[in-house]
Amino acid sequence: MLRCAVKPSLVLKLIGKTNLPSAAYSSTAIPQPITSPDVHYTGVFINNEFHKAESGRQFPTVNPSTGEVIAMIEEGDKADVEKAVKAARSAFRLNSEWRQMDGSKRGRLLNRLADLIERDQVYLSSLETLDNGKPYSSSFMVDVRQTINNLRYFAGWADKIHGHTIDTDGPHFAYTRHEPVGVCGQIIPWNFPLLMLAWKFGPALATGNTVVMKLAEQTPLTGLYVGKLVAEAGFPPGVVNIIPGYGPTAGAAIASHMDVDKVAFTGSTEIGHLIQQAAGSSNLKRVTLELGGKSPNIVFKDADLDHAIETSHFGLFFNQGQCCCAGSRIFVEESVYDEFVERSVERAKIRTVGDPFDMKTEQGPQVDEEQMNKILALIESGKKEGAKMCTGGGRVGDEGYYIQPTVFADVKDHMRIAEEEIFGPVQQILKFRDISEVIERANNTKYGLAAAVFTKDLDKAHLFSQGLRAGTVWINCYDVLNAQTPFGGYKLSGQGRENSLYALRNYYEVKSVITKIPVKNS
Ligand code: NAP
Repeated sequence: MLRCAVKPSLVLKLIGKTNLPSAAYSSTAIPQPITSPDVHYTGVFINNEFHKAESGRQFPTVNPSTGEVIAMIEEGDKADVEKAVKAARSAFRLNSEWRQMDGSKRGRLLNRLADLIERDQVYLSSLETLDNGKPYSSSFMVDVRQTINNLRYFAGWADKIHGHTIDTDGPHFAYTRHEPVGVCGQIIPWNFPLLMLAWKFGPALATGNTVVMKLAEQTPLTGLYVGKLVAEAGFPPGVVNIIPGYGPTAGAAIASHMDVDKVAFTGSTEIGHLIQQAAGSSNLKRVTLELGGKSPNIVFKDADLDHAIETSHFGLFFNQGQCCCAGSRIFVEESVYDEFVERSVERAKIRTVGDPFDMKTEQGPQVDEEQMNKILALIESGKKEGAKMCTGGGRVGDEGYYIQPTVFADVKDHMRIAEEEIFGPVQQILKFRDISEVIERANNTKYGLAAAVFTKDLDKAHLFSQGLRAGTVWINCYDVLNAQTPFGGYKLSGQGRENSLYALRNYYEVKSVITKIPVKNS
């Protein structure tokens, strides 16, 4: 459940209301972070070892709180992808250790990986905060906990993946086998580096595939450390390969590779198009896409307004606003609109922005300068197009990439801030009058990732959960995500689903085996 970043105490209260194992942490018991975690691994991870990039090039990974370089990372590109695919193909060959391993043992390996992440959770949470900028309380309570949960969930599936027997006419016996797709390319973004890795590793490895993963260039550190843990857990060499590097080189090489059987991509819709094209013009590899969103969040006058205001604040500002499913179009019923705006502005004004290692911090810096500038430009466009900026709007200080929590009222559907994914701490509040109007406006977007409705009226809640064209609809809550529940998009928000049983389906082929039964004439 991505419920966090408000206050550690609130995080715990909210987590306690779900099935998340809160591991007996109280707000004061979250272990102290390591504020300057050492960086141990910077290489390209292939065959359970770290290597220098073939090109000899490196790139910097930067601390978004300061703009300073944390470490130089090996820059994997096409040549390294080539090596990694060869390693993954070899690990997948018929009769290899991995192909012969029974599902229970695959599950044990995934559980062992989860155990090792849990052992090193303070270090990993600290490293995530250093590299991404997200508050340590979030890294610890959300990213790392969810990563562990996710791997354990898919570990549980590993020995429960099997086909069916089928009755057929004639003297034949038919059955299906659920076989791994093969070598899976996986490309992930920077907003939840560890968690996106787990969402992709879990189903791929549970079903017996091998993996070549490209990390986001902005946040390679935790993924590389997981490489070390993969080797320590005892996965055979070549089953998991991890490439730090750039999208147009390493990422594109994966998407267009003739010997990669499937590509799973999480990132922007723009790059999603390129991935689909590369797959189509190479070997028609299977494609799943988790892309962007501009999710509507609809608040009726009969809602519990205190709850709706706080949850809508959380649903937008969580993770510095860098969430694919951020509730970034908040439609509020006319009669409570002014109150909602006023109180949302008050809430945004007291949001604590600052050092992500400070336990009291709710909001850290944006991931990099480019994102910060993109967000500031969209804020300018909102002002120019006539939206009312009620608070925020600028940078915080001149060190690091911090942005003031920003709230826009009087937002109209055609404005850029109502149409484009801002991916930052910028809240848009729109007004509506009646139900049919708001359903139509909510669905009037190229995206369809998530939506929410706040109301005490069950009929309205059901009407909206049916009418909204989105992969997830939250009723009186926001960002409740877990390993058991599918997540993915309608329309340009993606194809396929992550998490849950549905994610497994993306990672196996169905083979029919039909056997003639000899009929003896006695
Ligand atoms: P992005 O620019 O699309 O990048 C995502 C990944 O793709 C990165 O690893 C990137 O490499 C790589 N990439 C870039 N160009 C590529 C190419 N030509 N071929 C192959 N790979 C390429 O997205 P982002 O800015 O990192 O992440 C933010 C976006 O992700 C938002 O739109 C957000 O909504 C979406 N997102 C969606 C979900 C979901 O589940 N639906 C979850 C999280 C994020 P570099 O590291 O070099 O850029």
